[in-house]
Amino acid sequence: MIPGLLVMKFGGTSVGAADRISAAADLIVQARQDHPVLAVVSAMAKVTDTLLETMRRAEAGDLAGMENNIRQLEQRHLEVCGVLFDSEQQPPLIQGVHKLLKEFDRICQGMLMLGEKPPRSVDEGVATGEKLTALLVAKLLETRGIPAAAVDASRVIVTDATFGNASPILDKTRRRAEEVLLPQLQSGVVPVVTGFNGATADGRPTTLGRGGSDFSASILASVLDAEQLWIWTDVDGIMTADPDVVPDAAVLDEVSYNEAAELAYNGAKVLHPRTLAPLIEKQIPVWSKNSFAPDKPGTRIVPQIREAPGVRAITSLARVALITIEAVNASMQGAQLMARALDALARVNVEVLLLSRSSYRQNFCMLVRSEELEMAMESLESALAIELAHGYLYPIAVDESVGLLAIVGEGMRGTPGLAGRMFTAISREGINIIAIAQGSSELTIAIVVEREKLAKAVRAVHAECGLGERRR
Ligand code: ADP
Ligand code: ASP
Ligand code: MG
Repeated sequence: MIPGLLVMKFGGTSVGAADRISAAADLIVQARQDHPVLAVVSAMAKVTDTLLETMRRAEAGDLAGMENNIRQLEQRHLEVCGVLFDSEQQPPLIQGVHKLLKEFDRICQGMLMLGEKPPRSVDEGVATGEKLTALLVAKLLETRGIPAAAVDASRVIVTDATFGNASPILDKTRRRAEEVLLPQLQSGVVPVVTGFNGATADGRPTTLGRGGSDFSASILASVLDAEQLWIWTDVDGIMTADPDVVPDAAVLDEVSYNEAAELAYNGAKVLHPRTLAPLIEKQIPVWSKNSFAPDKPGTRIVPQIREAPGVRAITSLARVALITIEAVNASMQGAQLMARALDALARVNVEVLLLSRSSYRQNFCMLVRSEELEMAMESLESALAIELAHGYLYPIAVDESVGLLAIVGEGMRGTPGLAGRMFTAISREGINIIAIAQGSSELTIAIVVEREKLAKAVRAVHAECGLGERRR
């Protein structure tokens, strides 16, 4: 254990250009005056998207497009080197950038030849962005007199083999962290670890899902018993709504683990949905802070909040689809049908975001993410093939024109009439409510509305709850 260890994670925009990388290094240098520091870095903004697009091009046989993208990636990182390092410092870095992109090129060539992209190779390739940033940040720290080492998280974070959305195996990860990171920290070196990636115990590369660097940081904070985790991003903290949707969204001073997890799960991109889970046992506090305005306090995420002040935030997810299954008559057991449908979705790892049932009409609907819809439908149609073929069920219906709005807050528990007020606020705007769910924890009310009017619904509910900046 390293007393006082601070884990600092820098998101894509916080390392998105030379001046941002320089600012991130400043923040590390400053924090290191008071704490031992471990840094976790994302790829520069948009780089992960470009890497994924490059692999898609490779799969499609578009050699020119693939090479063009790789050239652009190389240029972008070399430009940063040119700004941040003097000419004597540059050669090993140029070589490093070149080597990582050469490796990526090799992965893409394989995809080009095969005409497909195996999930394992995608995970290996898509982590290139984080490796590039880790290299640059570690070297920059060294030029500022701080001993630092770039660490590829595939050496440390051990995961299962769910490529693209892997889960960590914490005890194995702890052992690796003790082998790889602890000696560095003990000798005063700042490990600069790649966010987003890991590997199976037998060394196959994996990633933790889009936005997964937050999760990488919380996994490392947990296994190293960190004192605190700071997540540096491009907004002032966790806000009462997505500031792109609600212009007067306000920053929250403090939220509970439960609230933050619900917010993230229901679409607040500011945190990866699984970030809080590894921290619960050790109750490690998290700060969400703005690297563009580091003196602002940010949001503190704590195990429990002292007082629970009602609704805290409104989130939304636009890329969702509603699947409805309906029996033709009452001869089919509704509960059994539902169990089989859920089982079919669980088998292909599709998450049900909301489930709503009408007992009279023998129908129920399930909300899933748009990117998982195809897999969900294949699995449902195969599990219910006989019933569908014999006409015991209506054809499975899919509505892709919906969006999910969620109202989150610990203090909503026992506030009578709240749900009713929210429905009225939405209806007042002429917006149709399609489905509703409220968990027994009363932490979240989830409402499915027409996607076209989702943003309008979020603004209406946000205002109804009095959450805006001007009202505080
Ligand atoms: P990073 O690259 O630092 O991980 P992300 O882009 O993943 O940053 O997350 C930060 C973004 O999340 C913000 O720029 C903001 O647009 C968006 N966001 C969505 N909902 C919220 C919310 N409730 N509070 C703060 N930011 C939010
Ligand atoms: N670079 C990865 C992504 O864009 C991980 C992250 O930024 O957290 O999804
Ligand atoms: Mg993020």
